[in-house]
Amino acid sequence: MSAEHSRPGSRLDPWIDAYADRAVGMRASEIRALFAVASRPEVVSLAGGMPYVDALPLDTLADTVARLIRDRGPAALQYGSGQGDVILREQILDVMGDVGVVAHPDDVVVTTGSQMALDLVVRVFCNPGDVVLVESPSYVGALGIFQAYECDVVHVPMDEQGLVPEALSETIERLRRDGRTIKMIYTIPSFHNPAGITQSAQRRKEVLDVALRENLLILEDDPYALLGFDGVVPRAIRADDADQVVYLGSFSKTLASGLRVGWAVAPHGVREKLVLAAEAAVLCPSNFTQGVVSEFLATQPWREQVDSFRDIYRDRRDALLGSLDTHMPPGTSWTRPAGGFYSWLTLPEGLDATAMLPRAVSALVAYVPGTGFYVDGQGRQNLRLSYCFPDPDRIREGVRRLAGVMEAELEISSTFGTGAALHSPEGSATPGPDLA
Ligand code: PMP
Repeated sequence: MSAEHSRPGSRLDPWIDAYADRAVGMRASEIRALFAVASRPEVVSLAGGMPYVDALPLDTLADTVARLIRDRGPAALQYGSGQGDVILREQILDVMGDVGVVAHPDDVVVTTGSQMALDLVVRVFCNPGDVVLVESPSYVGALGIFQAYECDVVHVPMDEQGLVPEALSETIERLRRDGRTIKMIYTIPSFHNPAGITQSAQRRKEVLDVALRENLLILEDDPYALLGFDGVVPRAIRADDADQVVYLGSFSKTLASGLRVGWAVAPHGVREKLVLAAEAAVLCPSNFTQGVVSEFLATQPWREQVDSFRDIYRDRRDALLGSLDTHMPPGTSWTRPAGGFYSWLTLPEGLDATAMLPRAVSALVAYVPGTGFYVDGQGRQNLRLSYCFPDPDRIREGVRRLAGVMEAELEISSTFGTGAALHSPEGSATPGPDLA
């Protein structure tokens, strides 16, 4: 192709100038490459939020799948309803009974993981430039969706009880004064990813009061609710208001993430839009994996399965917290999760989690730097530790290695002055959704 006929763009990607505005910000992070290394078996990965599916009764699941094909094969292998299988939707109501949500099967939309439900809600509600309020920090996979739809993400502070209602009200007031359109409050009230915090019942009520007063939709993302280590299942915000809240749930953490079955419960009109958007995107969720979940729920003691996951994760949480108590240098703090997969660690003054990651990976331990959980460059002094996948001994070893790296970095800062330990470049490191 001659020069005058060649398109603009770059030699690496000749389509670079053709993309829609919404694709411009979609970039793999520089730390993706590091995570390829971090997935080597010798590295203890405290990074990815992968559920420990090895603990599933695989033979039983194999029988479930065989029975599904044998007894309902033609239906299971066919296209299905855009809203999801009606029997599964009824079973989902039973699952949600635990968080206090009472609904009708018509209110439920089954999706390809709750990630897709998140995408559909944002697709249906948000124009470019609309504001979405999120916690500080927030789930990286949700931030990716908000950015893909060109929303303006604004972080609202959290404390140890969750989203701070006064800060929420002030932020809303300030943004509205500036003429901004706020579309929703996105919250992960239970066993937060990445903060490891659970909103108290009082906080949930206060957040709902703000949403009602300001007439803002709450997008309640609740995939970890059944994984509370003291057996308490926090009551969903949706349980106290069916009209103000879109509730998202998932079988990823209580059964298997690879099945990709999640759901949304939404007020009637919203639910209709979600189904239309889902049909446009994927026609229907997988009839086959819905059948596997439905069959499992109908024939297996699924609550016992959740109990066994909870016991495994509790042991791992204890291993993490115990070894952090033992090994972390002074000036480090971390959250003590009462359920779920994550603890959020704050490094001593002068350390930078992004800059430290290559050294950590060289020392055979990986984590996710805090900047990935913000859109505005916050989080340099933070990192997320996931304890869901490695066994307790590996977790202890990982923390010991991490502490060694931190000690070495602190040594550099004390010798050469605060800030001498490597600083990462501005705006780097948004981990991709492979870091669920
Ligand atoms: N929301 C949160 C807070 C999550 O942590 C995750 C997965 N890590 C999801 C949604 C998506 O889960 P899935 O699509 O597997 O249901």
